[in-house]
Amino acid sequence: MGIYLDNSATTYVDSRVRKEMEPFFSKDYGNPSSFHDMGLAAKNAIEDSRKKVAGILNASPKEIIFTGSGTESINLAIKGVYRANRSRGNHIITTRTEHHAVLDSCRYLEENEGAKITYLDVDRDGIINLDNLEKSITKDTILISIIYANNEIGTIQPIAEIGKIAKKHSIVFHTDACQAGCSQDLNVKNLGVDLLTLNGSKIYGPKGTGMLFIKSGTKIHPIIHGGGQEFGLRSGTENVPGIVGFAKALETCQLSKEEENKRLTELRDKLISGIQGSVPKTILNGHPTKRLPNNVNISFLDIEGEAILLHLNREGIYASTGSACSSESLEPSYVITSLGLPHEVAHGSIRFSLGRQNTENDIDHVLMVMPGIVKKLRMISPVRVNEDELRR
Ligand SMILES: *Cc1c(COP(=O)(O)O)cnc(C)c1O
Repeated sequence: MGIYLDNSATTYVDSRVRKEMEPFFSKDYGNPSSFHDMGLAAKNAIEDSRKKVAGILNASPKEIIFTGSGTESINLAIKGVYRANRSRGNHIITTRTEHHAVLDSCRYLEENEGAKITYLDVDRDGIINLDNLEKSITKDTILISIIYANNEIGTIQPIAEIGKIAKKHSIVFHTDACQAGCSQDLNVKNLGVDLLTLNGSKIYGPKGTGMLFIKSGTKIHPIIHGGGQEFGLRSGTENVPGIVGFAKALETCQLSKEEENKRLTELRDKLISGIQGSVPKTILNGHPTKRLPNNVNISFLDIEGEAILLHLNREGIYASTGSACSSESLEPSYVITSLGLPHEVAHGSIRFSLGRQNTENDIDHVLMVMPGIVKKLRMISPVRVNEDELRR
């Protein structure tokens, strides 16, 4: 077994979650819509899960919609709210550093359904400017969608403050909280959000599961039509084991949140300072403190992230460059270039995302091999970036 430091791409499934899911594969496998005891058992499991999730979000069960992924929840939130509110306006505000699910949904509406999109800039740490947000609101603005915590650089946006601005102008506010499910406050009333997306695969739950909180009274159209499941907002036979697993995963995460955040923050900071202390010419990407407790994103100047990954992989260390979803292209990360950093810096970025299974030994091992890998790659690299020009 190697050292898995790619927990922001996906996590393992917790054994308590698997145990909770098991009966719904082989024993209580009825269709929740069926009118008999086996159907009822499945239906009850879904409703219990809905209550559990609603409790964690300080929401009402009828405000919780189970979906098939974070991506699906985001598509439903953006396209669904846009289409239902199109008669009032066509303007959506988002940021440059969203996940592709948000950016591409917005782009789709822009190209096909007459939407106008404002992509807010972020500062060097990846945080939006609240004055710019408020200034970009027009009479046509119907939706604000801003990521809670960034999947590449871990920067946490001031969601509650954005919520206040959205409320003041009566604009629907969605946040993509896929990276925030285990470590951040998900109380939708504290956050002031109208919609919130989560998924199972980032919180030690099953892949292919998601949830969308929709505050009651929010106008929204479904994007999937059919049998009318999930209050008519997500037709299709429910993934009962998936829903049960998602709810259990969220509960398990949130119960150990404080303790685990403290542990991960210590490991995170040890990894950051260890690398910066032993490897010259590095840059920490993202905010130094307003960042996820499990995220380390560092650019190693003069070398390619992919080359570093290959060497790490050979040592049994599994990390990633940027986001897993875009790693097939050789374009540098748009998230890192949005911070105002040049392409050369974005090309050398590595994300180590920590998780429950990681120990201090794992961090020590990475710190032991990292200086040698970087030194070897720099010896054969023709690039020399001037570090002084990049100082904050
Ligand atoms: C993973 C992720 C998504 C997409 O979730 P899927 O369940 O893979 O569809 C969306 N937003 C963020 C921030 C993510 O990290």
